[in-house]
Parts: sequence; structure tokens; C-alpha cells
Amino acid sequence: MIHQAKHLLQQTFGYHNFRFNQKAIIETLLNGQDAFVLMPTGGGKSLCYQIPALVRSGVGIVVSPLIALMQDQVSALTQLGIKAAFLNSTLSYQDSIQIQQQLRNQSLDLLYIAPERLLKPSTLEFLKQCEIALFAIDEAHCVSQWGHDFRPEYQQLYLLHQHFPHIPRIALTATADQRTRQEIIQQLDLSQATEYTNSFDRPNIFYQISEAQNARQQLWRFLQENHAQDAGIIYCLSRKKVEATAEWFSQQGRVALPYHAQIPAQQRMQNQQRFLQEEGVIIVATVAFGMGIDKPNVRFVAHLNLPKNIESYYQETGRAGRDGEPANAWMAYGLQDIVMLRKMMMDSEAHAQYKRVSQSKLEAMLGFCELVSCRRQALLAYFDETLEQPCGHCDNCLNPPKTWDALVSAQKALSCVYRTGQRFGAGYVIEVLLGQDKDPRIKKNKHHQVSTWNIGQEHNATAWRSIYRQLLSQGFLATDQEGFGILLLTEKSRLILRGEIDLQLRELPKKAKKSSTVAARNTQQVYSWQDDLYQALRQLRMTLAKQQQIPPYHIFQDATLIEMVHSQPKDQSQLQAISGVGEKKGQQYGSAFLDCIQQHRISDQLNNTLSETVNTTFAAFLKNQSPKQIAYQRQLKINTILGHLANAIAADLLDVKEVISLPKVEYNEIVAMIKKLDTCKTKAIKPLFDAFKEAYDYGTLKCIVASECHLVFR
Ligand code: ADP
Ligand code: ZN
Repeated sequence: MIHQAKHLLQQTFGYHNFRFNQKAIIETLLNGQDAFVLMPTGGGKSLCYQIPALVRSGVGIVVSPLIALMQDQVSALTQLGIKAAFLNSTLSYQDSIQIQQQLRNQSLDLLYIAPERLLKPSTLEFLKQCEIALFAIDEAHCVSQWGHDFRPEYQQLYLLHQHFPHIPRIALTATADQRTRQEIIQQLDLSQATEYTNSFDRPNIFYQISEAQNARQQLWRFLQENHAQDAGIIYCLSRKKVEATAEWFSQQGRVALPYHAQIPAQQRMQNQQRFLQEEGVIIVATVAFGMGIDKPNVRFVAHLNLPKNIESYYQETGRAGRDGEPANAWMAYGLQDIVMLRKMMMDSEAHAQYKRVSQSKLEAMLGFCELVSCRRQALLAYFDETLEQPCGHCDNCLNPPKTWDALVSAQKALSCVYRTGQRFGAGYVIEVLLGQDKDPRIKKNKHHQVSTWNIGQEHNATAWRSIYRQLLSQGFLATDQEGFGILLLTEKSRLILRGEIDLQLRELPKKAKKSSTVAARNTQQVYSWQDDLYQALRQLRMTLAKQQQIPPYHIFQDATLIEMVHSQPKDQSQLQAISGVGEKKGQQYGSAFLDCIQQHRISDQLNNTLSETVNTTFAAFLKNQSPKQIAYQRQLKINTILGHLANAIAADLLDVKEVISLPKVEYNEIVAMIKKLDTCKTKAIKPLFDAFKEAYDYGTLKCIVASECHLVFR
């Protein structure tokens, strides 16, 4: 039976191999046993029940908490030629009758259903008359009443085992912690199930956290450099900030749509729909957004405010890169965030114990932000997983932050809080430290006469803010409960004031860096000369998607298009060999995509090992642009362009006569001189240049030398 599963993987889904432990999980279900699967977002949970449902006879019943998700899954499966349907409250009576009919006829492979619908006595009775392949309980952590996705109906799902004792069940979740795992097993009566645990690492996500200094601008620069056309999510803490940010990014020319609980439901749905169905849309949202968003090609998740704990951070950033392609988790946060979150916690109605837990989770989040070692190691450690080596794929790994001995500065910072009576925020005390009195209260309060007045000249105001933020996040300072941002000393402050500890802080921010780019590495890249084809394929995908009102990625995912660009298939069978194509999609869309590739075919000559810049020039040259035109367009010297072409000549991809048009006599003269000066050996162009008294430019000479000597130039 596992052969049949592998065959389906390749034929129907168009994938070459199983991922992680998909194969073992599928085997378990095929043997009629239960499974409990922990796999990170984007790991490929769906295949674990979709394939066994297809192999086993009968229909696979999938319990899913979210209506939007069901529709999306069913639409994606239909594209693959799988007979799938859903039953939930959005269906008309007529439609549900029709689906019941299909169930009776055994003409469905998969049925998605909401838990409350499934558990209705009438539904259970009806299903007993049908042949069932398996039950899949997706998002199984919804049984946990401690989690944020709690769904009471999920707790009743143990009934399935009583009603259908012989049908295999599979529960799946991406939620990591031990307590939730235990709850799932217990509540769902899954103690017999084989447990399959995967690492929670998301290796394709690049984590970076920086200090906010005009965070919006910082983010804009980052997006311009890395995601100028990509879809992504920007999280903000408040509704107001969501609105303002969406507006600002729209003014900058991006499609940026707001999403928060106060936007009317219809508008909210519409924004979400555009995010899913169009390309390159940014959603600016509060944490209300995200649950059930299955969009695979979210290329970045940015936080303009601090999330309230590491669980939220992991879940929100986890929405990036579900397709396994490189994605960025970017965050900028500042002192104000700490003040605001602490206030929100204090203001909440929750009981004291809950507040204490929230508080300590916030501390852990702050610790994570100020970390100077590998972010991924810390993140995984938080979820009880060990990563032996630093990941090499986060900001701290790439640019290890420098630290400095900050004890004396910290003493000044804390003393100044003390001397001014623990009644002011950071802005005020920093002015005192710097000997400024823009704030009229300073003179009035006679704080220009305190001993800490003007003792902080070694840092500027930005640096002092950073010091205060770090002291605050490490508990050497607190803020007032009312949320005015008033700085207060704590028990721990004494350690510093008395000089009893060694205090290392992260290096202070330099003046805004020109380029902020440390970012996700691209594994599969589309080069400039391939972009025409790539854009044409994307355009075609968009057109086809619009016709059917489905999201573009239900046709082909980005990685599949990129592979098309690289391999430029010429016929159906070559096309079907590409990961993510599959039989049905090959038949349905194959000829349209093959035509498009044919029309925008990239010369095979560009399939070479020359550098990117050489090929960019070479590609333009192959499109009949002259070296002069190329030089103008690329803003490079014409000699540089000729140097690029010389490399293509040396690699026998181009004939020198196509580039250089010199009278035969002159050309032969140059060749003779090359021999005389033994240029092929010396590899020096200058003597040649001098020999002709500078009559020929370097570029021309390089091309001829390349042709004669097969020399490569750098
Ligand atoms: P999850 O539900 O675990 O978040 P999905 O089931 O949505 O993840 O799968 C994530 C992505 O990985 C999807 O685009 C899916 O098609 C793809 N995928 C799953 N299994 C494989 C595989 N064996 N080979 C290639 N791609 C796969
Ligand atoms: Zn790292």
C-alpha cells in the first residue's frame, strides 16, 4: 500500500519524495492505527492524512476549526483532481443534501467538517452508514483550554473513538509545549496512538530584531531592499497604529490593507481575500489576523511592536514561508513597547496569578530581544528543544552584536532616576543627564542643580534611550503601573548602584546604517535575465487564477514557477518532472505554461557558469543591444561591458566578431602583437595597450585576447 501512497505523491501531488516522517505516519494509518503528529507550520501535515484517505477505501473525514481554511483546502484539492467537499454552516440546505448524496454514493475522497457539525447525533448516525477511511483532527491544540485557540467542541471529539472504534484517527498540531501535548492525548483518547514529533525549527525563516529608531522608515528600507514585490504581514499592537501604518505604506506606493477587529466584517473579509488572491499585498494587522491563513508565500512577517510573549512571536512569525522558501521575520521595538505592554497587563481584568504568568512571559520575550547569541537556539530552547550549534541564519549569528562594559553608564542612568525623584520618563531624565533643559519642568523642579545634571556627555540621547531600554528589559528598572512611562528603581537596581555585578550591554546604535540588509538567503534565485520569463509566468498564473476566482498559489506555487524558469521544459513530460506540477495540473495548465515558456525562452547560452553581472550584460547583448546601450542602461563604463563580453568570448559562448568590428588588417595586427608580446602567458593587457599607443581601448583588446587566448578576466 505504501507504493500506492508514493505513486499518489508523485502523480497527484507532483512531489518527488516524502518529507520528514510523512512516510511513517502514512504507513501507520494505512495499517489502521492511530497517529499523533507534531509538525511545524509548513512541514506538510495535510499530506499525512490526505494520502491515506485516498489509498484506503471510503471517505476521509477532516475536522477543522476554521471555515475559511476548509474552503481553501477544498479548492486546492479540487485543483489536484481530488474529490473533496466541506460541510459547515455556510452551505445551503440544497448543497448539504447534495454532499450527503455524494457520501452515500462513495464519490468523495475527503470531507472537511466543523466539529460541532460532526458531533451532531444526526451526523454521527449518518456517517455510520458510510464507509470511512479515517478521521483527521487538524489543529488538535484547539482542545486545550489554556491555549488561545480553545474550541470547547473539540473536547467532545473523544466520542469519535466510541462511535467508530475501528476507524484510524490522526491528530495534528504545530503547537509545541508539553502540557498541550498531554492534553491532546488525554482529551482525544489517543493514548494508543503512535506519536510523531518533528523539530519545531523553521530553517527557512531568518530572524532579526533591532532597536526602533523610526521603525516605519527602517521597515520601509528593509522591504525596499528585500521584498519590493512580496506579500507579507505587518503586526502592530493597536488599532490606531494599524490604520496609520497601512495608510503610510499605501502612500509609499505599496498595496497595504488594514485588518483589525473594529473594521466591519465585510471589509475585513475583502482585505483578507485580496491578500490571498492578489500578489504582493501587505496586510497591516493586529494579532486578530492570522489564524487560518494558509497562504504559502508570505515572504515576511514584520513586528512594529513587541509581541506579548515568545509563543505569540513564534506563532506570528511562523506565518512566513510556509512554502519552505526563504522568508524574513523582522522586528523593531523600543522602550515605549515595554511601557505599553506592562500597562496592558496591569489593566487587564485577569486574576493575579494570570498576570504574574503574563509578566514573566513578557520578561522572557524581552530577554529574547536583547539576546546577543543565536536567536534560533534560544527560541527552540524555549520550546524544550536543543539546537547543538548556532544556526548561522539569524541576525546575531551573521553579525554578532558587540557588547561593552556598561556599569558606569548604568550607574549614572539609575542615579539620575533617583535624583529626579522617580517621577519622570526616559525623555526627561536623559535631558538632565545631557545638561539640557528643553523641558521647562527641569528648571522649575531645580533639576539643573542635581548632582547628575550634565554628567552623561559620553553618549547621545539615542544611546541613552537604548541603555534605559536595556536596563528596563533586564529588570534593573521598572515603569509605573499607570503607564505614564515613569521610571522606577527596583530591588535589582542596587546591584548596579553598588557596583556589585558585571554589566554587559549590547553595543549602542550607530547613526542609521545605510543598508540594513541582513536577510533570508535566497536558495532559488531568479536572475535579472530570467525575470521577463518569471514575470510572464506569474502573469499567466494570475490570469488563470482570476478566471476561477482562486488564489494564484492554488495553480502553482512560486517555487514551481522558479523551477520552470530554470529548467525551461519543452514538453509535457519535462514539465511534469517539476516539483509541484502533478498529473492533473499538467493536463489542465501544461500547454498554457509551455507556450508562455516558449514565447519568453531564455537563450541556452545563458545556462553557463559565468558570474551574474557578466550574464546580465550577455543577456542584453543577446537581445541585440549594443555595448553602448548596455553601458548606458547599466550605468557602467563601456570598457566594463566589453570586459563582460570578453568573458563570454573566452567561454566560447560568443564569437569575437559579433562584438568587435575592426577592419581585417587592424585585427590581424593586434593578433600579431598578442603573439609577439606573449600576452596569452603574461596575461597583461597594458603592454598591448601601450604598444598601439592607446589607439585601441582596453575593452576591445580584452575581447580579442579572450578570443585568442581563452583568458578569463575578473
Ligand atoms: P502544514 O499544514 O504542516 O502547515 P501543509 O500541509 O500546508 O503544511 O504543507 C506545506 C507546504 O509543503 C505545502 O505547499 C505542501 O504542498 C508542501 N509539501 C508537503 N509535503 C511535501 C513533500 N513531500 N514534498 C514537497 N512539498 C511538500
Ligand atoms: Zn542563529
